[in-house]
Amino acid sequence: MSQEISEVNKTDVLEGFEIIIGLEVHCELLTKTKLFCACKNQFGDEPNTNICPVCLGLPGSLPVINKRAVELAMRIGKALNCEVLPSTFHRKNYFYPDMPKDFQISQYDMPINANGYLELPDRSRVGITRAHIEEDTGKSMHLGGSGRIAEASNSLVDYNRAGVPLVEIVSEPEIYSSQQAKDYVQELRQILVAIGASDGRMEEGSLRVDANVSIKPKGSEVFGTRCEIKNLNSLRSLGLAIEYEARRQAELIKEGKSVSQETRHFDENSGRTSSMRSKEEANDYRYFPEPDLVPLDPDTAWIEASTADVVALLPITKRKNLEALLGEEYSSQAALLVGIGLDEFAYKSIEAGADSRLVVNRVINELARDIEQAKQISIEGFVELISLEATNKLSATQSKAVLQEMLSSGGKPVEIAKRLGYEQIDANEIYKVIDEVIANNPAEWERYLAGDDKVVQFLLGQVMRSTKGRANGKEVMQIFAGKQLSN
Ligand code: ADP
Ligand code: MG
Ligand code: ZN
Repeated sequence: MSQEISEVNKTDVLEGFEIIIGLEVHCELLTKTKLFCACKNQFGDEPNTNICPVCLGLPGSLPVINKRAVELAMRIGKALNCEVLPSTFHRKNYFYPDMPKDFQISQYDMPINANGYLELPDRSRVGITRAHIEEDTGKSMHLGGSGRIAEASNSLVDYNRAGVPLVEIVSEPEIYSSQQAKDYVQELRQILVAIGASDGRMEEGSLRVDANVSIKPKGSEVFGTRCEIKNLNSLRSLGLAIEYEARRQAELIKEGKSVSQETRHFDENSGRTSSMRSKEEANDYRYFPEPDLVPLDPDTAWIEASTADVVALLPITKRKNLEALLGEEYSSQAALLVGIGLDEFAYKSIEAGADSRLVVNRVINELARDIEQAKQISIEGFVELISLEATNKLSATQSKAVLQEMLSSGGKPVEIAKRLGYEQIDANEIYKVIDEVIANNPAEWERYLAGDDKVVQFLLGQVMRSTKGRANGKEVMQIFAGKQLSN
């Protein structure tokens, strides 16, 4: 809420401008071993324990490509509607302590995937320029000061991450707001997790986002100069960094200055971006072909075998399936259910005959509170519960209580309902109780018959008291209304 307010307050400086964003997302692949050696690909291990001559770049060592990494890259390509292409590897040369070889093996002019798109839940499409394979670098840690190298007293380096397989997914500059950028990363993250390519843990650096941001006058065909904000590791930071950066650029332009192309760092504490390096000091990577690796040219059979199940696993497919069952008016609930991973549970329950409105409602409002626990209850039991509610054998309140009991201690809904005293009284008994209540409260009943609808809550309360809550409120109200009408 506070963020929404501050965004509203600050819109003035951006008025008349459009924001243009292109995202580069680095995804660590969920392989057992690294990209070019047999070292473990494992986050959080003791520093410098998963290393060997290959990932340390010792002289004479040779890279051997990890087959699973190539398969996962092709799965990503398929998920992002890319063409899977013959590709080659290059050396990208630079000197940095976390790059023990002084170069990174990456794909350059011939990436494995190109020319795709990602469709967001709101149906907007963002072009995918390329999604190529490369190796991750090691990790340096700067001690003392803020964590940045300038103020550090010591630096440590951990090479466990050096050589971990990455796919870098580069979007076209076709994202137009911080919200759309967040939606894009969220959808991409869901896709990568669904197809088994990534664990999606942004906080552990499994997914890292660089945001290229520029602004231009509304309606202008010419793009403005962009700045690239490096290494955003949460959706929140991504949104805040884009908002801050777009406003910074707008202020420069309003002051008659110009934006210079540079790489910037986002500081989580201050919420500001600051310059890391300008284009003039940009690295010259001296790309050249990697002599120790042959080109990759997967044949059709291998591509098909590795990607055949991808489409069925995609969140967009699951949303569409659920929407087909529920109707388009349920599209936001369908998206929510897919997002929390309870779509299949809802789908199967409805398919088994449970009332779809009640299923969606109970899953979103009750089961979503603890998703792991929710996955423990059987579809059969859930369907049975929903049908007890749909046929008025349980009231909404009772049904929710039974569901909680099913979640916490298991058991069949009918038995739990019995144990909780929710066995409903039969129709004859209800009529008898209602007649008694009317006889005992003649004045209130007269007022009700005369059209005073407020008094009905009192009468209903009396019925509930006599039946110890076993009567179905809806049914009692219907009987009251019938008597009022026929009076
Ligand atoms: P580089 O090789 O320097 O990273 P690219 O041309 O590959 O440059 O672009 C990198 C990213 O920048 C892509 O995601 C692209 O969509 C984005 N981009 C390019 N031009 C702009 C722009 N004017 N505004 C915002 N993003 C842009
Ligand atoms: Mg770049
Ligand atoms: Zn190794």
